[in-house]
Amino acid sequence: MVILLDYFSKYKITQRFGWDSCTQSVIDEFKGKKVYPIGGHPGIDYAMNYDPIFNPIINGIILNVDRQGNDADGKSFCVVDPDSLISVWFKHCSEIFVDDNQQVSGGKMLALSGASGSLCLGAHLHLGIRFLNKKWQPINLNNGTNGFVNPLDVKIFYWKDAA
Ligand SMILES: [Zn+2]
Repeated sequence: MVILLDYFSKYKITQRFGWDSCTQSVIDEFKGKKVYPIGGHPGIDYAMNYDPIFNPIINGIILNVDRQGNDADGKSFCVVDPDSLISVWFKHCSEIFVDDNQQVSGGKMLALSGASGSLCLGAHLHLGIRFLNKKWQPINLNNGTNGFVNPLDVKIFYWKDAA
């Protein structure tokens, strides 16, 4: 049992993975800007305000910390589980309290959610999940969502694994 995604389930999901949950106006707007990959929204949005983000991985390594947040994703980073080679991305943060290569134990406060980035209409947490190869590079980059998979599917997978 590695992933504690259940922690996020107390927050309402405001946008699901892919294009299915997008209104036509969102599809038109974001497809036109080529902001979303071809498969649509590459993660899940949770209705978090400026709330603490706790590490959902029992033992993780922080990577890809972007404190400037000048692009669509805003202030963002990911935490990697070295055993399962899963990376969990957090985007649109307001503050990030960790640094690249830092080891973080499960439950540690990593950041505050927020509304940073040009592709952000209000405070929320965008959570994305990618699997990595043994060199810690994302795999399946041609899956239509730049390698991102539906976090809810991953949660089911892991809960089954834990049983
Ligand atoms: Zn999102």
